Amino acid sequence: MDKKFYIDYPQEKIEEGSNIYRCSICKEKSLTINGLLGNHKPSCKYRIDIEERK
Ligand SMILES: [Zn+2]
Repeated sequence: MDKKFYIDYPQEKIEEGSNIYRCSICKEKSLTINGLLGNHKPSCKYRIDIEERK
């Protein structure tokens, strides 16, 4: 896994009024993802698309 940061994934708030975001595809929290592709769920379309592009 390379160390490049990926932060252009679609995000949504976990709940209205909160300031906690998550990937809108795999629902993993942005804090957990921390910009790393490998922290998205293996089934995440965003992650799969980028991994296929390499
Ligand atoms: Zn994701």
